[in-house]
Amino acid sequence: MTKEISISDKKDILYYLKTKSKKELQKLFSQANSLCESYRKNKVHFRGLIEISNICEKNCFYCGLRKDLKIYRYTMTKKEILEAAKFCFDKGFGSLCIQSGEITTKKRLNFLIDIISTIKKKYNLQMTLSFGELSKTSLQKLFDAGAKRYLLRIETSNEKLYQKLHPKDQKHSFQNRINTLKNLKSIGYQVGTGIMIGLPYQTLNDLANDILFFKKIDIDMLGMGPYIAHPKTPLCDVKPKLKHPFSLSLKMVALARLFLKDINIAATTAMQVFDKTGREKALIAGANILMPIITPTNLRKNYLIYPNKPCIEDTKEQCFSCLKARLRSINKKIGKNEFGDSIHFFKRKKII
Ligand code: SAM
Ligand code: SF4
Repeated sequence: MTKEISISDKKDILYYLKTKSKKELQKLFSQANSLCESYRKNKVHFRGLIEISNICEKNCFYCGLRKDLKIYRYTMTKKEILEAAKFCFDKGFGSLCIQSGEITTKKRLNFLIDIISTIKKKYNLQMTLSFGELSKTSLQKLFDAGAKRYLLRIETSNEKLYQKLHPKDQKHSFQNRINTLKNLKSIGYQVGTGIMIGLPYQTLNDLANDILFFKKIDIDMLGMGPYIAHPKTPLCDVKPKLKHPFSLSLKMVALARLFLKDINIAATTAMQVFDKTGREKALIAGANILMPIITPTNLRKNYLIYPNKPCIEDTKEQCFSCLKARLRSINKKIGKNEFGDSIHFFKRKKII
């Protein structure tokens, strides 16, 4: 019998980030998949992704929605958002994820509270929010309105690297990002974070530290994917040090599964940019969450955080059918009408 792989410290993580052995990697992915299936069998839970607005107050150096870019800006109407939520409900998704650029106005907060409480009342879907660094009071109000999960990627846990990727001002403070993650936890959210992989200046040591960081802050959910240079952003000409961002991303998914065990891990859309079956590959390397895009087709081309984003010409029906077929091809099935909450969250809260 071959020995089980154990990922218990930074040395183990770095070993697999560096290895080029196909045999070793196959074993890593297959063990991560087995551990994942020991929690939820071969079920994958869907979160319908509604990109409700591309207006943003921030200027992150890597993002196609950054404030200084002259792009067409939109905000979906309440009716459009509720229609998208109804689609998730009708198809048995159980959950949706509402995402947008960062807007900190009172008007936006009240709009979100109205949307979230209406979706909860009408469809009882579990909701993940991804609106950036809102104040603790705002986050508490959104929680009280019915949202129970929040996704805020740290982008990189290396503060010096973080500063190279963002303008140097209060709006882009690393410490505020950390404080917001802490606030989310103290409010009682299931907390998700994540990073981009293959960023300019990033090293394998940074990636290994990122996995240790996820453990240290004890996260419930994880979303990671390759960094894709956007030609109109300040970072576009800086050549990343790390090569092969897709295969590194797959390794990161498997390593995170084996190190963090019972958290939810997304097979992110960006995984499909470098490899047409990238999301399926992530799902058989330890990921258990898929996020079909539910944003209306006419708006998708305006939410281009990076170029070559998949699915922008598709309808929500096409995205749903396509992902169902992709799941069948890897012998997985949808966790229909289930929230698919993070098992880790309930253990952390000592609820199970
Ligand atoms: N505004 C919110 C925030 O920043 O948390 C949510 C929306 S933002 C577009 C969602 C994620 O997109 C970011 O956390 C970042 O990791 C990712 N992203 C932005 N630009 C990217 C790029 N060029 N390549 C890959 N991912 C990118
Ligand atoms: Fe805005 Fe988020 Fe893009 Fe930063 S990553 S510019 S906060 S949408």
